[in-house]
Amino acid sequence: MDIEFDNTFLRELPGDPESGPRVREVQGAAWSRVDPAPVAAPRLLAWSPEAAALVGLDAADAADPEFACVLAGNALLPGMQPWAANYGGHQFGSWAGQLGDGRAISLGEALGADGGRWELQLKGAGRTPYSRFADGRAVLRSSIREFLCSEAMHHLGVPTTRALSLAATGEEVVRDMFYDGHPRPEPGAVVCRMAPSFLRFGSWELPASRGDTALLRQLADHVQRHHFPALAGQGEAGDAEWFAQVCERTAWMVAGWMRVGFVHGVMNTDNMSILGMTLDYGPYGWIEDYDPDWTPNTTDAQGRRYRFGTQPQVAYWNVVRLAQALSPLFATAASLEAGLERFGSAWDAAGRDMVARKLGLAACTDDDLRSFAALQELLQAGQVDMTLFFHGLAELDPAAAEPVAVAMDALGEAFYDADARAAVEPALRDWLSRHAARLAGDPLDEDQRRERMRLANPRYVLRNWLAQEAIDRAEQGDLGGVRELQEVLRRPYEAQPGRDHFARRRPEWARDRAGCSMLSCSS
Ligand code: AMP
Ligand code: MG
Repeated sequence: MDIEFDNTFLRELPGDPESGPRVREVQGAAWSRVDPAPVAAPRLLAWSPEAAALVGLDAADAADPEFACVLAGNALLPGMQPWAANYGGHQFGSWAGQLGDGRAISLGEALGADGGRWELQLKGAGRTPYSRFADGRAVLRSSIREFLCSEAMHHLGVPTTRALSLAATGEEVVRDMFYDGHPRPEPGAVVCRMAPSFLRFGSWELPASRGDTALLRQLADHVQRHHFPALAGQGEAGDAEWFAQVCERTAWMVAGWMRVGFVHGVMNTDNMSILGMTLDYGPYGWIEDYDPDWTPNTTDAQGRRYRFGTQPQVAYWNVVRLAQALSPLFATAASLEAGLERFGSAWDAAGRDMVARKLGLAACTDDDLRSFAALQELLQAGQVDMTLFFHGLAELDPAAAEPVAVAMDALGEAFYDADARAAVEPALRDWLSRHAARLAGDPLDEDQRRERMRLANPRYVLRNWLAQEAIDRAEQGDLGGVRELQEVLRRPYEAQPGRDHFARRRPEWARDRAGCSMLSCSS
């Protein structure tokens, strides 16, 4: 395992003079030095060859016992200097003060094979100064979910942090899954995540809340130097463009979520990456029967702040929090307001791009936006599986003798309920008929349209019940389900013969099963 490290975050930003995990408030510092706490019996459960290649590792490295040891936190490679990052955040709409990496420990910044820089970070590696009252550990079920979903999102083409490995700790962790007085011991695990940087909106909000403009400035300089190099050292104009680009990236990321039916579940500002990558896979979920009001997160069941349909608005609310945090760096509010407008224009462009691609159009007009909104209402009223519907919609061929009949046939598997289907079927047939006419006048030919739709509408996503099936097997010691899902989700847009199981709509047993339709922040 030969990796070169260059730890610019530690070198360029002020750190906490105290090291070690004693819980404390950390002022004037972006990080605290703390080592991972060794675990009883590190064992590699899964790893991602694609993520490994980014840092120059391959199957021979993964087979080396040192790999599991390092990635479970029991050994360090030369050049690693473990730290926990300090940040704050707005949680469920309220300012929460200092949060920080309570169970994530970064090992170092690996210099990648292609010149990329990848921060390696263990999640579940033990206590840090930011653990507050918690144990710094993670359970197997949530670690499997983070490992699989990070890589699945990457293969879907949605910006995301990556996952290098999943290791068992050989230790148990006690969790009360639904905070209802039923704690139980569960197997523990550690995921090694990778990102060019794990800085979050909350990384700026914390120093801003403390009036620490010097640290605010240093963080901005650092992230610009390494991740927005064209903007570094350009003064206020560079800062303004940086903020605007963060807004744009955030809008495009959320448009990616809306396209594939992903619900993040905890869009707190401490979970919003400054690079516009999907970050912190907790109680996330995937839309099955189309419902913009659905959230998988039971911790959010009351207000449903983070439901599927409101993710774009929440993302905007979050960039406004970032703008407020950055305001001491600007002489006037005008540049930040211009950045926020760029969120709006990026969202408009990204939303149109999504509609055009999902519906198989060369470009999306205002009429198409209205047609898409009408379709969404039908999908909701008809309890139609989002993934199966859009995949099947490619069968709507305007040149066919009876395009609507052919399409309805292809869409049959997408319905969950016969009564709900009957209630919307006439209106859905009308919609399909109008859409066939729209397609007939579109410049794309049949092959182009099918290809465009294939690449926008995945056949395979990490359905909640599929993840749970793999977790149930893994908790019995059988990792076959995790590996199979990992393999299927590598090629989400391709038909994979013999793998129909993974494209199926939710089975009845999963409707109200914990882990499938209900998740909490307990992980
Ligand atoms: P999350 O909801 O996972 O984004 O976590 C919010 C905050 O709680 C972050 O500061 C986490 O590091 C911290 N946290 C969550 N779970 C644990 C845990 N088991 N031990 C220590 N800190 C935790
Ligand atoms: Mg978090």
